[in-house]
Amino acid sequence: MPERDLVVVGGGPAGLAVAIRARMAGLEVTVLDRARPPIDRACGEGMLPDTAAELAEMGIEPEEAGRTPLAGIRYLVGDLAAEGHFAGRPAWGVRRTALHAAMARRAEALGTDLRWGVGADGLDADGVRAGDEVLTARVIVGADGRESAVRRWAGMEHFAGRPDRHAVRRHVEIEPWTDLVEVTWAGQAEAYVTPVGPRQVNVALLWNGGPSSFDKLLPRFPDLAAHLAGAPAASKDRGASRLASRPRSVTAGRIALVGDAAGGVDPITGEGVSLAVREARALVDAVVAGDLAGYARAHRRIARAPRLMERLLLLLDRTPRLQRSAVAALAADPALFDRILAFHVGALGAHRLGLGAVLRLVVRTLAGSRSDPPGSAHAG
Ligand SMILES: Cc1cc2nc3c(=O)[nH]c(=O)nc-3n(C[C@H](O)[C@H](O)[C@H](O)COP(=O)(O)OP(=O)(O)OC[C@H]3O[C@@H](n4cnc5c(N)ncnc54)[C@H](O)[C@@H]3O)c2cc1C
Repeated sequence: MPERDLVVVGGGPAGLAVAIRARMAGLEVTVLDRARPPIDRACGEGMLPDTAAELAEMGIEPEEAGRTPLAGIRYLVGDLAAEGHFAGRPAWGVRRTALHAAMARRAEALGTDLRWGVGADGLDADGVRAGDEVLTARVIVGADGRESAVRRWAGMEHFAGRPDRHAVRRHVEIEPWTDLVEVTWAGQAEAYVTPVGPRQVNVALLWNGGPSSFDKLLPRFPDLAAHLAGAPAASKDRGASRLASRPRSVTAGRIALVGDAAGGVDPITGEGVSLAVREARALVDAVVAGDLAGYARAHRRIARAPRLMERLLLLLDRTPRLQRSAVAALAADPALFDRILAFHVGALGAHRLGLGAVLRLVVRTLAGSRSDPPGSAHAG
C-alpha cells in the first residue's frame, strides 16, 4: 500500500497549491523541494483578479508589506498607449517571496508534510526516490518547474521550449508611477512593470534572440529607462530561458504534471500562477474522483484561453506594425479593452464579450497594420 495519496516534487506555487487543495480535501500529501523557503524566482509578480480570487479561496493571504493593489493594464508602443481596467476586482502585485511564504504558511497550517532542502533523484515503481528514501504514493505530481525532471524521467517531454525566448527581471527601488501593469513593446522585446510595494517596482524584460542582460536591453525602452534613471536595484537580476516547454500529455499512468512542468504559458500573458492554481484544483478533484484522466481533460479546458492569449500576444510580439495598430485600436475603444480583460481573467463569458465588437477590433488592427495608425489615438 502506498504511504500517502500524493507525493509532490517541487514546492513552488504549483506544488504548494496542490498540497493546499489536497489537504482541504482531506488527502495525505508530502511535498519535497530542494530549495528552502521563501523561494524566489524570475516572475513579473502580477496576480490578476482570477489568480487573486483563487488564492483567497485557498486561504492564502500574502503579507501587506509584500503586495500592492493593481487597477488594470496599460499597453505602450512608441507614442501610443491603451488602458484597460479590472472593474474594481482585486488584483495584486506580490513579491514572489511574499507569495511563497504565504503559501508555505498555509500548507503547513493545513498539516502538509513539507520537506524543504530535499531533492528528488528519480522515479521508482512505487514512488519518488529522494536520497536513501522512496516516498510512495497513489499519485506522483511533477510540480518541478519549466525544466521538470519528473517530466523527463517519465518520458513525457515533447517540446523543450523556445531557445530564442528569454526573460530577466529586476526589482527597482522607486515609488510606482502608476497602479497599472505597464507593458511596453519595442520590436522583438517587451518590458513589463508591476508595482509590488510602496517603493518598489518589478521590471521584467522579455525578448526574442540570443542571450542578453537587463542593462543591455533597457535602452530599447527609452521612456522606461528615463523613469528608472538613478533608482537603485532592489534585487539581484534573475533570468529564465526556454519558456513554455510542453509535455506530450499532463498525465501518464499515476504521474501528473502541474504548473510550468505541465507547459505553463509565456510570461507575456501574466497567467502562469493563475494556470498553476487552477490546474491544482482540477488535479485534486480528479484524485478524489479516482480518475486521473479527468485531470488531462480538465487541463485542456483550463489551458485553452491562456494559450489562445499567448498565441495572440506572441503574434504581436513578432510584428511591430501589428503592435502599433492593436494598441491604437484598443485605445480607440477603452470599454472593449475592459471587456477583453474581464474575459481574459474569466469574469466575462465569451457570449458577453461581444463578437461584433471583437471583429471590429480585429478589422481595425489589420487595417491599421497596413497604414500607419493615427498618432491621435494616444490615451496615456
Ligand atoms: C520573467 C517572468 C515573468 C512572469 N510573470 C508572471 C506574472 O506576472 N504573473 C504570473 O502569474 N506568472 C508569471 N510568470 C510565470 C510564473 O512565474 C510561473 O508560471 C510559476 O513560477 C510556475 O510555478 P511552478 O510552481 O510551476 O514552478 P517553479 O516556481 O519553477 O517551482 C518549481 C519548484 O520545483 C523545485 N524543484 C525543481 N526540481 C526539483 C527536484 N528534482 N527535487 C525537488 N524540487 C525540485 C524548485 O526548487 C522550485 O521551487 C512569469 C515568469 C517569468 C519567467
